[in-house]
Amino acid sequence: MTALLYGRAAPSATAHYDPRALELDGAGGVLHAKAVVADDEAVFVTSANLTEATLDRNIEVGLLGAKVSGFAGERGKVRTRFTKGGPEREVRSEQSCLAIGRRWEPRTLGAETLGFETARLGLKVTPHLRTSLPHVYAAGDAAGNMQLTPVAAYEGRIAARNALEGDRLVADHSVVPQTIFTTPEVARVGLTHQEARARGVNCHVSTHDMRGASNGRATGEDDGYLKLVFEGGSERVLGVQMVSYAAAELIQLCALAIRSGATAATVAAQLSIHPSHSERLR
Ligand SMILES: Cc1cc2nc3c(=O)[nH]c(=O)nc-3n(C[C@H](O)[C@H](O)[C@H](O)COP(=O)(O)OP(=O)(O)OC[C@H]3O[C@@H](n4cnc5c(N)ncnc54)[C@H](O)[C@@H]3O)c2cc1C
Repeated sequence: MTALLYGRAAPSATAHYDPRALELDGAGGVLHAKAVVADDEAVFVTSANLTEATLDRNIEVGLLGAKVSGFAGERGKVRTRFTKGGPEREVRSEQSCLAIGRRWEPRTLGAETLGFETARLGLKVTPHLRTSLPHVYAAGDAAGNMQLTPVAAYEGRIAARNALEGDRLVADHSVVPQTIFTTPEVARVGLTHQEARARGVNCHVSTHDMRGASNGRATGEDDGYLKLVFEGGSERVLGVQMVSYAAAELIQLCALAIRSGATAATVAAQLSIHPSHSERLR
């Protein structure tokens, strides 16, 4: 996944990079930039619906799905050309930063030599994590389901059990919390409303401004928004996307809510710590 960053009113920086690099920017507060997600694999950010979100440190996410066609200019005056469903456009900035995402490299495993079938991000595996060579199982990045440490550990246990005991366990990736460590953080778990609707699930969405929570007022860490996706009828929580301080922690609560089948009423009934960011979840 790649993203383009450029400054706002007076552009100060342009970056075209993996959103994980957003973390560096958020931590350092260096770029004061606007993010243009510039790759059709921008799964995380686009599905988190950040089109209009303004993050602290002036990172603004927009122009999702733009495609960068080239850079030009000179030191201190960079021109970045991109298209998004129309004629080529250009943003000007003082700096440009290109960071590349990680790509699955089958050769490092000798996958081709050994005759493994491969998929987009790893070896082709069944839901039991069995590869196309029936006596070989894969987990983590090699399995290519999700490039996350907890997923690798989880899949490792499943793959080992299935290899030893037969294909009894299925790897379930439906409730995997994810965070990009910007300031504030960007996090999601479960389904977005687009994903739910694409699966034919009747759903509706509730959005909230994260500003004004007691902790945010007290500490100045007061920014972001929250989006909850509920199943129509049952009102079960299907997914949560948020931009917030402490989002990496808050999203764990949401993951538990989804996993335990909590409804909107359950979430609303839960008392919150005061002061805390979690007040806005209710
Ligand atoms: C910059 C960066 C930031 C990340 N940030 C996060 C994050 O914040 N949160 C998160 O959850 N995930 C993060 N990830 C992803 C996470 O690191 C991986 O998804 C996770 O490490 C995958 O675990 P794994 O065991 O499948 O593979 P790895 O951790 O890569 O382990 C594979 C091991 O196999 C070894 N190896 C490779 N080839 C061979 C060979 N032929 N023979 C013997 N040994 C071999 C490697 O040296 C390595 O030690 C990040 C990744 C990167 C690169």
